[in-house]
Amino acid sequence: MTNSVPSIALNSGTTIPQLGFGVFLVDPDDTQRVVEDALEVGYRHIDTATGYNNETQVGAAIAASGIPRDEIFLTTKLRNDHHKDRDVAGAFARSLDMLGLDYLDLYLIHWPMPVNDFFVETWRTFETFAADGRAKAIGVSNFLVPHLEKLLAETDVVPAVNQVELHPIFQQRELKEFQAKHGIHTEAWGPLGQGKYDLFGMNPIADAAKAHGVAPAQVVIRWHLQTGNIVIPKSNSRDRMAQNFDVFGFELSADEMAAIDALDENRRVGGNPAEVN
Ligand code: NAD
Repeated sequence: MTNSVPSIALNSGTTIPQLGFGVFLVDPDDTQRVVEDALEVGYRHIDTATGYNNETQVGAAIAASGIPRDEIFLTTKLRNDHHKDRDVAGAFARSLDMLGLDYLDLYLIHWPMPVNDFFVETWRTFETFAADGRAKAIGVSNFLVPHLEKLLAETDVVPAVNQVELHPIFQQRELKEFQAKHGIHTEAWGPLGQGKYDLFGMNPIADAAKAHGVAPAQVVIRWHLQTGNIVIPKSNSRDRMAQNFDVFGFELSADEMAAIDALDENRRVGGNPAEVN
């Protein structure tokens, strides 16, 4: 099953599995079990963050799995307060330490926090992690077009990805178009809408699920994959994580894709990056 997950080439020269597993709001006490389950199910791409307080347990699961390090793609993110207090190098070293790893596959600035206006300075430090090989790729999260424009104008390395809120009612078309022009891959967080609206009951999703004999969540993940998004759904339940991974045995038709595309309301369910500071 693992082999069916497409790999996407990043501008760093490395590749990322298009389907991964996120651990936001996974309690530290549950995280090692949850990540071990995800690795057993077949996921080889894990997305955590210092702000999730579970890096130690993610690292313990990776170690316990016995899977060779180079077969796992691990992302973590700089916590906002470490960005704000300009302890970027210290925060990065502590993440590696907590994860028990000597390199990351992807390190992200979690939020731009534009009122503080440190993200260019932070990015220059990120560039040193890419240069010394401790981060195979570097990227950003929750960046809006003006933040990306500023980075592109003032720094050397183009972010490999921008991880942003993205699901059928918030499809981020303008941002995606901008990113595609610059070779920045779009990674979808909250890909299932975080359960904050009735995504699975919406007709185009429910109808496609019925037509293909799959669950609505599988239709939504398939929609992400077919639109080219990197996607990292989360579940504590092993059955659901297996269901979310079992999305390579069917394909949505052009009409089904168009019907889901038409659900876009340009409406966030999470924080606005211009206001998170
Ligand atoms: P999500 O859209 O993945 O939704 C998760 C919720 O969907 C869970 O509560 C679960 O109960 C439900 N669910 C999962 N699989 C299901 C299934 N098969 N059937 C029915 N319900 C199902 O939301 P998320 O966890 O916020 O996003 C995914 C990942 O994105 C996170 O875990 C994290 O790694 C990342 N993330 C990043 C940011 C950021 O600021 N960069 C913010 C939020 C999340």
